[in-house]
Amino acid sequence: MLRRLRQWFSPGPAAGTAPRDRPGAETTSSLDSPLAQAKLELGMQLRLQGITDSRVLRAMLDLVPREDFVAAAMLDRAYENVTLPIGMGQTISQPFVVALMTQLLEPGEGKRILEIGTGCGYQAAILSHLFGQVHSIERHKDLAETARQRLDRLGVGNVSVHLGDGFLGLSEQAPFDGIILTAAPREVPASLVNQLAEGGRLVMPLELESGEQYLMRFTNSKAGLFEERFTEVRFVPMLQGIPDKKRSQTTVIEHESLKIESPKVDSSL
Ligand code: SAH
Repeated sequence: MLRRLRQWFSPGPAAGTAPRDRPGAETTSSLDSPLAQAKLELGMQLRLQGITDSRVLRAMLDLVPREDFVAAAMLDRAYENVTLPIGMGQTISQPFVVALMTQLLEPGEGKRILEIGTGCGYQAAILSHLFGQVHSIERHKDLAETARQRLDRLGVGNVSVHLGDGFLGLSEQAPFDGIILTAAPREVPASLVNQLAEGGRLVMPLELESGEQYLMRFTNSKAGLFEERFTEVRFVPMLQGIPDKKRSQTTVIEHESLKIESPKVDSSL
């Protein structure tokens, strides 16, 4: 029965996408193992929640071993559709949210992506299978180094992890076809909007004054910034500067005005 379900729910190779040969890319698991069963369940949930892109499902279920990104104590929960702690008060996002944000970026082999908030590197690993080049910025040195080592170990070759303040973006690598924020700011960072290519997508949680956060997508079009609002989410806050370990306080790095400069915003809020 499990085998039958597996056939129905395994997304299989994506139509029109060349398979990628990366060492260690395909995860191996016996169908009888609890992790394999949890994956199967997760696959069903993701589909029911509207994840329709087979390339995203394949990356989430077959290509990236989520168990390699969570703490040993959380191993048996790796494929639960929940947020899990990754240390330093930070979290690895819920699989549904990772999948939805990835789908909203509209995968494409030639596209270049900037991620803000590398964390444990899981979202970056998912992106690596669906986009051409990924740059990811993390403000915590320890998290950035651990993520870099983990991605190297998994043979992920097209992700560059940068230590820095994501509010500044990465102007030397701009423009990007997609920018994804995995920490929530209170305003749309203008510096990041300015680093979007024409037609580029900015997918991010936005915290409103009420404290609620919504997943948003902003598309950079000739006519201005087109705004769409999706589900309510809960992310850690996006903080300015990089933490100064010695003084255990935050060093604020100079950054551009965070007010949005684009004259036209189509609002669906
Ligand atoms: N994408 C991550 C989840 C990250 S949690 C994953 O898959 O695991 C959010 C991360 O954003 C945290 O690691 C936090 O340190 C980082 N962060 C918060 N503000 C930031 C900023 N201004 N620049 C870079 N990283 C930031």
